Amino acid sequence: MNDHDSERIRGVLEACGWELADAAEDADLLVYNTCAVRRSAESRLLGRLGEARRLKKKRPARQIAIGGCFAQSRRDRIFAELPFVDVAFGPQNIGQLPGLLEAAATGPAPACAFDEQPFPSAGLPARRPDRHRAWVQVMTGCTNFCSYCVVPQVRGPERSRAAVDIAAEVERLVAGGVVEITLLGQNVNAYGLDLAEAGGKTGRPEDFAGLLARLDGIAGLERIRFTTSHPKDLDDALIEAIRDIPSVCEHLHLPAQSGSTRILTRMNRGYTREQYLERVGRLYEAIPALALTTDLIVGFPAEREEDFYRTMTLVEGCRFDGAFTFVYSPRPGTGAAEMPGRVPEVTISRRMRELIQLTQTLAEEKNRALVGSLVEVLVEGASRQGGGQLRGRTRTNKIVNFSGTARTGDLVRVSIDVASSTTLGGRQAGG
Ligand code: SAH
Ligand code: SF4
Repeated sequence: MNDHDSERIRGVLEACGWELADAAEDADLLVYNTCAVRRSAESRLLGRLGEARRLKKKRPARQIAIGGCFAQSRRDRIFAELPFVDVAFGPQNIGQLPGLLEAAATGPAPACAFDEQPFPSAGLPARRPDRHRAWVQVMTGCTNFCSYCVVPQVRGPERSRAAVDIAAEVERLVAGGVVEITLLGQNVNAYGLDLAEAGGKTGRPEDFAGLLARLDGIAGLERIRFTTSHPKDLDDALIEAIRDIPSVCEHLHLPAQSGSTRILTRMNRGYTREQYLERVGRLYEAIPALALTTDLIVGFPAEREEDFYRTMTLVEGCRFDGAFTFVYSPRPGTGAAEMPGRVPEVTISRRMRELIQLTQTLAEEKNRALVGSLVEVLVEGASRQGGGQLRGRTRTNKIVNFSGTARTGDLVRVSIDVASSTTLGGRQAGG
C-alpha cells in the first residue's frame, strides 16, 4: 500500500515539473512517505529526519514534506514536534501535495492537509518502476479494529471503489503494457459490502469474486494477484475464483496472526484457530498447488507458552510457503496497548527464533517439492545474483533466478533445478 502511495507521490510531483535527485544533498525537496504500523518504522523515520534537519539548516529554502500514516497519526502536533518540516499530508491527501508545497514556500507558516476523501489517489498519475506490473487500489481504509492495529485510525473507514472504475483503470494499464496487476485493500474479501449499504435497493453490486471475474475478461491481462485477505471473510466464492478463473494466481496471503483462539479473541480477529484451519483445509482441497503465506505476531499481551505452541502447530498444519513474523509493538490509541501482561523480551526473542526456524524449514520443503517441475515465470529483469542470469516470479509468487534469453515482461517456462527457503533456480525451457 505504501509503495503504491509512493508511486503516486512521485507521479504527482513529476507531473508538475519535479525531477528525482541523485542524492538527498542535491535535492530541493525531501519527501518522506511514512508508516505507523510498528514502532520500528517510526524509529527509522526519526533517524532519517535527523539528516533532513541537518540538510534544511544548510539550505533553508530546501523543503521537507512528511506524508503517510505517521504524519496522519501525529496530525495535531507534527509541526510542534518537528519544527523544520514544511509540509505534512495524510495518505488520502497525496493530490494536494503540489499546492501545499507552494503554500509553504510562499506563505508564513507550514502547510498541511489531513482530510479524508474516498479514493482520492485513484485518478492521480503514478510513476511505476515496472512497465509490466502494477498495483491497483480496490479499497481504502479498514473498519476491523484488530486490537493491535493502528490502520483504522490512520486510513479511515473501509471503502470500496466502484467496479467499473477499477476495470477502466486496469484496461488503461493493460493498454500500456501491463500484464500483471495486484489488487490492494486491507481486507479485499469485504470488497463491495459498503457499496451494498450505500446502494440501498440494488444491494451488493459485486463481491470480490465477481470483481475478479470481471477483470479476467480484460484481454491481455495475464495475472491477477490481490492482498490482503482476512480469514473471517474468506468465502467459498473466492476459493472457487482462485481455482477456476484463469488469470487469478494460485497464491493467497492469509494472515493468521496467532494459532491460539484465546489470543485471536483478544486480538478481535473474528475467527478461531479451528475456523482458520478449516478454511486452509478447504483451500488446499480445491487448489492443491496453492502457495499460502501469512503474517504472525509474537508476544501479544499475555501470550502464554501454550498460546505460542498453538501458533507453532498451526504453522506446521498449514504448511505455509512463507511468513512475515512480527514482534508485537504497542501502538498508542489501540485496544491492545491498554492490555496487561507484557511478555518479557527474552521470551519474545526465543519464541521468534523458534518460529522463524520453523517457517523457513517449511518454506524450503515446499520449494524443494518444485525441483524437477516446469513453472511459468514472468520475467522481471536481470537477476541480483548477476552472472547473466534472469529473475522473475512464478504464479505462486516465488522468485526464480534462471538462465535464459527472455526479455523483461515475457512469460516463459522454466525448469526448476534448485530450491532454498526463499528462491528457486533453473533454466528456461524451450517451446
Ligand atoms: N490488513 C492486513 C494487514 C495490515 S498490517 C491484515 O488484516 O492482515 C500488516 C501486518 O502487520 C499485520 O498482518 C500484522 O501481522 C502486523 N501488525 C499490525 N499491527 C501490528 C503491531 N501493533 N505489532 C506487530 N505487528 C503488527
Ligand atoms: Fe489492521 Fe485488522 Fe484492519 Fe488488517 S484487518 S488493517 S490488521 S485492523
